[in-house]
Formats: sequence, C-alpha cells, structure tokens
Amino acid sequence: EDDDEQLVERIQTEDGRVQDVHVYQVYLLGMSGTGKCSLMRQFKSTEYRGIYDYSSSLDDDPDNTVPIMLDGIESRLHIITIDVEQIKTSVTGDAYIVVYSITDRQSFQTALQLIKNIRDTESFHNQSSIKRHIPIILVGNKSDLVRKRSVTKETARHAALKANCKFVETSAAINDKVDDLLAGTLKQIRINEQIRNE
Ligand code: GDP
Repeated sequence: EDDDEQLVERIQTEDGRVQDVHVYQVYLLGMSGTGKCSLMRQFKSTEYRGIYDYSSSLDDDPDNTVPIMLDGIESRLHIITIDVEQIKTSVTGDAYIVVYSITDRQSFQTALQLIKNIRDTESFHNQSSIKRHIPIILVGNKSDLVRKRSVTKETARHAALKANCKFVETSAAINDKVDDLLAGTLKQIRINEQIRNE
C-alpha cells in the first residue's frame, strides 16, 4: 500500500550483532551561498556519527551519506544538496532541510517559496488521504553574523509555524546547533514514519 521508497540494509556491527539500518533521503535546499556545503561538512563530523562501514556497500556514496546513531539506533541519511536555482518540481524525500542566511532577506523569501512548493506538491499527491506532513526544517544559517542580521528569529519562527515546519538557527562556521539540526531531522523522520505505520 505504501509505495514510498524506503531502503533497509542489514549490517553486522563490530561486536557481531546484526542490525537493520534504515536509509532515508534528505534534501538540503536553499539559495547558493547560504551555507549548504558548510553544513554538510559539519554533518560529517557530528557527535552522533554512527559506525556504518561503507566498504561493505557498493552502491553507497560516502560523500553524501551520513551514518547517525540516535537513541541507540543507527540510521543513514542520504543527503542530496540542491541550489534552489536548479530545483525541479517533484523531488520526493523523507525530509527537507531548507536553508537561508540570516544576513540575506532574499534567501529567506526563497526558502519560504520553496516550502510552499513542497507543501503544495504534497497536498496534490495526498488529496484523499489523511493529511500527513513530510518533515521540513527551516534553517537560518550564519547565526554568528549577528551584526549583519536582516531576518529576525521571530519572523522566521512565525513563518515556520504557519507552514508546519521546525525551525532552527545554526552556524556552520562555528558549528553551533548543527548537531541539533542533524539529530532533529532524523527524529522528525522517525516520528513521521511511526505516524504512517499506525
Ligand atoms: P552553499 O552555496 O549553500 O553550499 O554555501 P557554502 O557552504 O559554500 O557557503 C557560502 C559561503 O558562506 C562560504 O564562504 C562559507 O564559508 C560561508 N558560510 C557558510 N556558513 C556560514 C556560517 O554559518 N557563518 C559564516 N560567517 N559564514 C558561513
């Protein structure tokens, strides 16, 4: 019934146990220059990093896949980074991370438009069924650039609430809240999956 693509891979842990690892598709979207590559770089050195051994898998791209250990369960996030300038209409992932820079109002407007597009596509595919929301996390990056701020936290938080998104401000430069973003994304995916399976 559920035709969403969901990958599960069976791995052997270092102490010999067998574990199923879920692989989720996460889109990292936003205008170029907002900090997506920098965030991705920080994701790779997260303190939630899992133990998954890529040498055992042929079809994995270690460059954009992050193993994460959260609440004692390992998962993998396959992260696809796209500059909004080149986004196509119907990409479907398990979650979306939509990034703007707190110093750039234009990038904030673009992020909101992007979220609207995702929600519109979602309701189009979802007309008859009970409304479920794919997790979207709105991310105000470059929070360290306090004096160049042009988007307030309140404005962004309000917009996120209206669109049913989570919201966090991060700094990829000083690695602030980046771990929260990564773990929060996986948490939202797991919650969403649970709701779906009920
Ligand atoms: P992308 O085009 O979205 O992938 O953005 P990049 O990750 O390439 O970052 C664009 C520029 O912003 C680079 O010069 C980064 O060093 C800088 N940058 C990214 N994140 C931050 C941040 O949190 N704080 C500051 N001060 N600069 C950042």
